[in-house]
Amino acid sequence: MQMEEAARTRQRWEAAGRPACDPHTLVSEYYLGTRTGDKVCTKCGGNFLNGSPVG
Ligand SMILES: [Zn+2]
Repeated sequence: MQMEEAARTRQRWEAAGRPACDPHTLVSEYYLGTRTGDKVCTKCGGNFLNGSPVG
């Protein structure tokens, strides 16, 4: 998933009042076609590093 798309997903999720996201659906995060090494959740747009939430 593109970093930009994850940011949009995160905004939508926050606008919806941050409903519970369990389990997260994690995929590799990409920036301009390059893996960032982080994972993002396709449902809430959350960032994960080594399986742990970031920020
Ligand atoms: Zn999630």
